[in-house]
Amino acid sequence: MPSAAEKLNVVVVGAGIAGLATAVALREHNVLVLEQSRLKEEVGAAIHLGPNASKIALKWGLSLEKLNSPEVNFYHEMGADGPTHFKIPIRAREEFGAPWLLNHRVDLHAELRRLATREDDLTAPAVVRTASRVERIDPDSGTLYLATGETITADVIVAADGIHSVARAAVIGSDLSAKPSGHSAYRALIPRSAFDDQPDLLRYLDGDASGTGFCTWMAKDRRLVAYPCHGATYLNIVAIVPDREAKDSKEAWHAAGSIDELLASFSEFCDDAKAILRRVDSCALWQLREQDPLSTWTKGRVILIGDAAHAMLPHQGQGGGQAIEDAEALQVVLPLGTTPASIPERLKVAQEIRYERASLIQGYSRSKALGPREGEKVVNAQEYAAYNFGYNGAREWAESHGIQL
Ligand SMILES: Cc1cc2nc3c(=O)[nH]c(=O)nc-3n(C[C@H](O)[C@H](O)[C@H](O)COP(=O)(O)OP(=O)(O)OC[C@H]3O[C@@H](n4cnc5c(N)ncnc54)[C@H](O)[C@@H]3O)c2cc1C
Repeated sequence: MPSAAEKLNVVVVGAGIAGLATAVALREHNVLVLEQSRLKEEVGAAIHLGPNASKIALKWGLSLEKLNSPEVNFYHEMGADGPTHFKIPIRAREEFGAPWLLNHRVDLHAELRRLATREDDLTAPAVVRTASRVERIDPDSGTLYLATGETITADVIVAADGIHSVARAAVIGSDLSAKPSGHSAYRALIPRSAFDDQPDLLRYLDGDASGTGFCTWMAKDRRLVAYPCHGATYLNIVAIVPDREAKDSKEAWHAAGSIDELLASFSEFCDDAKAILRRVDSCALWQLREQDPLSTWTKGRVILIGDAAHAMLPHQGQGGGQAIEDAEALQVVLPLGTTPASIPERLKVAQEIRYERASLIQGYSRSKALGPREGEKVVNAQEYAAYNFGYNGAREWAESHGIQL
């Protein structure tokens, strides 16, 4: 066990993917995670993690067996009326050294939480406190003010409190909220048994001879995405539509969507797409927001990570992956023995490593969703994939970009 003198007191705000990944990454220190919710509500959605993120999580000990996530072996894009635009084999393990995983969100959260809080001989488990809302933070003194009236001080505060971050205003000096993008996303999980009466649709769960895969049906202003998760016992659906067709669209994981409106938005799509959507028995609706890069992610003892730092549109499925990369960068810049006095400088190094890449992916995601802004380069999907997936961690990035660790 490292000595107490070598360890930092780290407080993480938020137990989403970013917060739990940080608790895993910084386990060598004393880590307290403060989460406002009771972490009881099951989020009915999946999240895919590209090899850039799964590679990091596997190094932390992520168990593929526990996760039970199918992998992407092909990517199949179709038109709204059904014909194939392209179907390409995906060799993520061979090309990028790690799998592209199709996870149930609950499985991924549970696995990150297990890694953060399990007993081991070398490090102390992180403590996750639920029903602990942080109201305000003071970046200079490292003080957190909780809704209960309690105050806590820390050497480092990692603000992983999502798109509505309370820490963001304290860091950037103004409240810069993400703007509606004009699109909303329905999300649903359809159980395998819902396909009993039409078994030919099981191919969207089971894939083909090459294995499981990722399917999309694309129209100009809307798209449907379908892929299996949780051992292919569920088909995950993400259906992106113009906001005007999705009444009461809110930005919250648990806001319910209308199945009638969902079906109406895809009434011109091919039979398979409609047959899949008819099997949705409840769905959530999320208003998609876009954000330009913040002027900074860090001030004093606080750093913003994940959606709090770089909320992005989901059209490339990289928001969660970028959060995992942020956490790994903190692991690299805050080794045991880091002195409390050096924290503000160390957090600036973390930002220096992560800012360019996360901002570029944020921009790519916006461009893919809404089209490039005037003067912006049009990047094709192959280029996106190579850039997104070909990341080998903060140390390699720092070395190749002349950043002193
Ligand atoms: C429709 C959709 C599909 C997506 N698909 C993908 C995908 O396939 N792959 C991918 O990588 N990404 C995807 N994303 C993006 C991804 O979901 C997010 O980037 C990721 O969940 C962000 O994690 P986070 O931990 O930063 O934030 P969050 O998940 O928002 O977690 C923040 C946590 O902080 C807590 N919290 C907030 N405020 C406080 C407070 N004041 N005090 C204490 N706790 C607080 C919240 O309760 C929450 O638990 C998708 C997003 C959407 C909307």
